[in-house]
Formats: sequence, structure tokens, C-alpha cells
Amino acid sequence: MSTLTLADIEKAIDITCDTVIRNEKYFSDLDGLAGDGDFGTSLATGFKVIKADLPTIDKSAIGAMLLKISMICSKHVGGSSGPICGTGFMRAGMAAKGMTEVDYATLTAMVGSALEGIMARGGAKRGDKTLLDALIPIHETMQTMDGSDLKAVLAAVTKVADEAIDETRSLVAHRGRASQVGERSSNTPDPGIVGIATILYDWCKHYGVDYTPKAAELAR
Ligand SMILES: [Mg+2]
Repeated sequence: MSTLTLADIEKAIDITCDTVIRNEKYFSDLDGLAGDGDFGTSLATGFKVIKADLPTIDKSAIGAMLLKISMICSKHVGGSSGPICGTGFMRAGMAAKGMTEVDYATLTAMVGSALEGIMARGGAKRGDKTLLDALIPIHETMQTMDGSDLKAVLAAVTKVADEAIDETRSLVAHRGRASQVGERSSNTPDPGIVGIATILYDWCKHYGVDYTPKAAELAR
């Protein structure tokens, strides 16, 4: 059974910061197709603070570190993304409370806890064309695997997120700002789903996992 240490999770978060910061304009451009065009900037503003604070943040346990990151998200990530990120990190941290390393079952539980929190907080459900349409099948896929090969898990969940981009493209958004434009949100990708897929694909590149993206937004 593979375990992840606090340092492993810190490194993954640092890579995520770089991904979000590098894609600031692209994510905002995607959001502008059906929303108010602030998604990339909202995220990048907060993740710049996370990147800067990460070296000195509380690392007594994974839960404590994620709780601090949650607080940064709530304070510095703008728009509707702030409470969603904040809730996700907080709930993931609660599932890793007091731990300095996590096994695969705990990692899966952290994802499950995060998505339950996001559902409760945002009131969205599967099929509403939000990031839940990536997170829910990612969690389901993790539950079907034994975690003995974390690279295989990463490849599998990246594929799930990649496919979610095209599976939800034709849907009309029912939650968030994009829902206010109704039909204009059909045939545009959901920026949150693209965001998750882009983060996972960047993790693949960093950790040496071979993955060939399908959706245009990843294969650019
Ligand atoms: Mg927006």
C-alpha cells in the first residue's frame, strides 16, 4: 500500500499553484465564454498567496496544513471559487486530521469529504455542469482501485477529468454565474472541470505518468 507524506502533499500543492498561476488568463478566457471571465484571476490571486506562504505554513500535520490553505482560499480566492476551494481544502484536511502521512484509503476519504463539503456548500449536484462532474467520478474511480500503484491512479483520474470536459460541454449550466446566461453556456467547457483536468495533467507530467489528453482544452 502506497502512502503519501506531508512533504509529498506539500509538493503536489506547490505544483498546483504553478499550474493555476500559469493558466490565469486561459481560465479567465474560458470563463468569459459563458460567465463573467473572472475564474482564472480569482484562483490565481489566492494561489499566489498559497505559493508564497507554503514554505512557512503550519506543517505539524497534513490536516493542519490543509486547514491553513483553506483559510487562505477563503480570504484570497475571489468570486464563487473562494468558498468552494476553502471548503474543499478544509474538508480534505478534516479527513487527515493529526496525520503526517496518509494511506490510499485516507486519500480517497479526503477527496470524498471535500466533494461532500462542496456539494453542501454550493448546492450543486451531478449534471449541473460544475467541477462536481469531475470530482464525483474521480472519487468513484479511486474507490474502485486498491492504490498499490499511485501512478496508475493518477492516470485513471486524469482520464476521468479529461472525459468530463467533453461529456459536459453540451450541457446548460444550472449553478454558478454561467447559469444566468442559460443557453449561452451550452457548447462551452466548464472552467472548473478544465481546471481540475489541467491540474491532474500537470501532475502526470511532473510525476512521469504517460497520458495523452483528448479534450481540446488539455491538448493545446
Ligand atoms: Mg466567473
